[in-house]
Amino acid sequence: MNRTGLTSLCLIALSLTFLTGCETVPITGRSQLNLVPESMVRSMALQEYNSFLQSPDTKLSGNTQQSAVVQRVGTRIADAVEKYMRENGMEKQIEGYNWEFNLVESKDINAWAMPGGKVVVYTGLMELANTDGQLAAVMGHEIAHAVARHGNERMSQGLLTTMGGVALAAAAKNQPAQTRELLLTSYGIGSSVGVILPYSRKQESEADRLGLIFMAIAGYDPHEALTFWQKMAAKGQGAKVPEFLSTHPADATRIRQIEDDMSEAEGYYKPAGQMP
Ligand SMILES: [Zn+2]
Repeated sequence: MNRTGLTSLCLIALSLTFLTGCETVPITGRSQLNLVPESMVRSMALQEYNSFLQSPDTKLSGNTQQSAVVQRVGTRIADAVEKYMRENGMEKQIEGYNWEFNLVESKDINAWAMPGGKVVVYTGLMELANTDGQLAAVMGHEIAHAVARHGNERMSQGLLTTMGGVALAAAAKNQPAQTRELLLTSYGIGSSVGVILPYSRKQESEADRLGLIFMAIAGYDPHEALTFWQKMAAKGQGAKVPEFLSTHPADATRIRQIEDDMSEAEGYYKPAGQMP
């Protein structure tokens, strides 16, 4: 969507009190159109997350040591990001997140996050991301999707495509079932466990950039992200593309972008020993 289009949609959104409208992504400052109240998106996401966890096809990892690592790294990043945002005037944007980090049995090298802070890591990822810092690279990326409200944005784009601009308020309010269907379609959860449709390339690049910053804020060396992505590239892409590679350009391009974002992330990095 071009800038003029976005601006006029924002004006439409602003004129409808029900809608959330234009928001700004924390830290990157990018404008985004989030048409659905975040509370609605989160309650639907919570329901889907719980039904995923309770599904007979889902098996939580029995490896208590690895599960603890996922908890520890996820909590450390989320806590650090919340603290940073509260201290830097972004407390409104980090309100009401209920972070959960679960390790689920699957050979897939993958992880994903839902709105409101519901994160899943697959056991297949743990073999490749074999240090806290490398795991932090992936979890920082997933936490970034949640903090940047990419789920709401994607859902809003879905609403726009299927229902058009002005009808949106009525659609979300009067057709909750249809709106819910759009969320489910966005996540693909339910019909096929854990398969998530791709975010846009712009959102993926933003999650990479924010993920680097988030891991750095939490005291993980952002260079560990490069180590991880290089290993990932060396492994090559299988038939099943992981969420965090889904709409990305070729590995080499992604690695180059991460290198470009590195000096910004370094500015946020305080080694764990020096953290207050
Ligand atoms: Zn991603």
